[in-house]
Amino acid sequence: MHYLIISDVHANLVALEAVLADAPSFDQIWCLGDLVGYGPNPNECVERIQDFDHVSLAGNHDWAALGKLDLRSFNTDARTANLWTQSELKPSVREYLQQLPTHREVDGFYVAHASPREPVWEYVLDANMAYLNFPHFSTTVCLVGHTHVPIIFELDEERQRCETSVPPFSESRLIGERRAIINPGSVGQPRDGDPRASYALLDLDGMTWDHRRVTYPIEITQERMRARGLPPRLIDRLEMGR
Ligand code: ZN
Repeated sequence: MHYLIISDVHANLVALEAVLADAPSFDQIWCLGDLVGYGPNPNECVERIQDFDHVSLAGNHDWAALGKLDLRSFNTDARTANLWTQSELKPSVREYLQQLPTHREVDGFYVAHASPREPVWEYVLDANMAYLNFPHFSTTVCLVGHTHVPIIFELDEERQRCETSVPPFSESRLIGERRAIINPGSVGQPRDGDPRASYALLDLDGMTWDHRRVTYPIEITQERMRARGLPPRLIDRLEMGR
C-alpha cells in the first residue's frame, strides 16, 4: 500500500493540486489536519480531498472554523482569516469537518494533528518536546503536522533522548526500526524557509518514507487571498516559506 501523507493544506487549493499532480500513484491519502484556515479556498480543498479514498484529522484551524475553539487564542491575522473562513464554509463542508477525529490509529500508525499528548494544540518543534511525547502512543511510528516544518524525531531508548533529522527530499528512507515521530511539513503554508509545498510518501510494503517538495504558482494563491481581503502578512509569508 502506498500512501500520500499531507498536512496543513490551509485552504491553498493551488498548492494541493500541485502535490496531487506531483505524487506518484497512491492508494490512499492521510491528511493530518488543518485543511482550512489562512487560505482562499476552504470549500474547494475539503471537496477535493473527498475525491479520494482518505483518512482525515481535525486541526486547530478546522475546529476554530467550526466555532469549537476560542479565537482569542489566535493572533490577529489568524483570527481575521478564520472569521472569513467561518463565513465562507458551505453546510456540507462544515458537516465533513465536524465529524473528523483529532487523532487515531490507522494501519499500525498513530496519527494526530499536533502531538500524541495534545492532539490539537502542542507544537512538536524540538527533540525535547518529541521525547516527552513517546509515552503517549504505543505504535512504532507517529505522524503529526501542525508545526508546518518537515522533520523526523527518532527515539534513542538507551540514551533516553531523541535524534532530529531534517529530511533530504525525494530520498527514501527506511522507517519502523526505531520509534519515530515524523512530520510531512505543510502543503499550503510551509514554515521552514522553503516556500515549496511539502508532503510525503509512505510505502507500507517496503516501509519507506519519502519527504518531497513541489513548486506551485504561489502568486495565484496570493491573488485569490488579496481578492478576498485576507491579511497582507499571510499573503506575503507564502513566498518566504515562513
Ligand atoms: Zn496548521
